[in-house]
Amino acid sequence: MTQAQESKTFLGDATFRAAVLARLREVLDEPDDFVPLHAPEFSGAEWKMVKDCLDSGWVSSVGSYVDRFERDVAKICGVAHGVALVNGTAALHLALRVVGVMPGDEVIVPAMTFVATANAISHAGAIPHFVDSEARTLGLDPQALDRHLDQVAKMRKGELINHKTGARIAAILPMHIFGHPTDMYPLLDLAAAYDLPVVEDAAEALGSHYHGRACGGLGRIAALSFNGNKILTTGGGGAIVTDDPDLAWHAKHLSTTGKLPHRWAFYHDEIAYNYRLPNINAALGCAQLEQLKDRLARKRALAERYIAGFADLDGVTIFREPEGCQSNYWLNTLILDPDRAGERNALLDELNEAGFMCRPVWSLLHRLPFYSDCPRTSLPVVEDLERRIISLPSSACLGAI
Ligand SMILES: *Cc1c(COP(=O)(O)O)cnc(C)c1O
Repeated sequence: MTQAQESKTFLGDATFRAAVLARLREVLDEPDDFVPLHAPEFSGAEWKMVKDCLDSGWVSSVGSYVDRFERDVAKICGVAHGVALVNGTAALHLALRVVGVMPGDEVIVPAMTFVATANAISHAGAIPHFVDSEARTLGLDPQALDRHLDQVAKMRKGELINHKTGARIAAILPMHIFGHPTDMYPLLDLAAAYDLPVVEDAAEALGSHYHGRACGGLGRIAALSFNGNKILTTGGGGAIVTDDPDLAWHAKHLSTTGKLPHRWAFYHDEIAYNYRLPNINAALGCAQLEQLKDRLARKRALAERYIAGFADLDGVTIFREPEGCQSNYWLNTLILDPDRAGERNALLDELNEAGFMCRPVWSLLHRLPFYSDCPRTSLPVVEDLERRIISLPSSACLGAI
């Protein structure tokens, strides 16, 4: 028996689950019907701007909304350049390409992230190299990575070589999970020591800040997503943000078939992609970006309500933004105590049954068959956390203030 099981307040399993559901009902009020995990919201100038875009006739990959969207997105991330793209996965793919990741290289990435992060590495012909996360941020653990690289990698002629696989380690790709910033300063120091570029997967972290600096503006380059489930949406969409004009130019070039600018000639100087965001999606995006501040405030209010609502329930913790950080609280996260991990699946069943869309964290990527042979560290923290994480309904409208 654990200490908690001996104590008088330890609730039976079914009673515990009922208590979690009761708290959820208190925080969110009784739903009329189904409460989604994260609903899109169109309460600004969306109709006006999309109509204006249609009226202009410029609905495809060129247009004034694309230009404005790129400027606005860069500004939010505190950098000079934005490149609007079809989705976040394409943004990650191009970001890896332009920082010089080559086929056969390895890219350091957390095992606890959405599959798209690793897929983008594969699309670049490279190999994900999985590392553990820290419980304090839920993001990549710089100290664990430091120890790991010390053991498996050596600098050779200016390149970092994994001496177990013989491959070059070409980049570090942290992901700010659920909008909570990864601990970037020690990671940036480590990257500098090994001369590795840091590509941020900031798909979930638009509007989040790390020690006053915006996520997406911390590494050499970053990828954002504007999929329908993210804090802001363009229907589907993504962007690259960076301070480096050459990287931005190359990303845009690769996203537009590698066509050299000319008044009438079609000349392409490399095999490239059709990854540009249509102007009509950018119109939606411009209207959404205007609402970011208001949305962040309501999401923060919802997070505070969750934190207060579950504060005195033994067996669970609502995850809070790491110290020194301001999270966008894209998804609120309930973490079960270790001795309640066995309740996770029954709890997910019951919460969903009651009309609250709740989800576990993604399957850890090294467990997916196509990534099971990838190089990796031991992963004790994420293997433990995976069993205990439940994502809670987090639409901004639930945090109305
Ligand atoms: C959503 C997401 C992506 C991919 O974005 P899409 O626009 O869906 O391609 C990548 N990484 C993370 C962490 C995400 O949450």
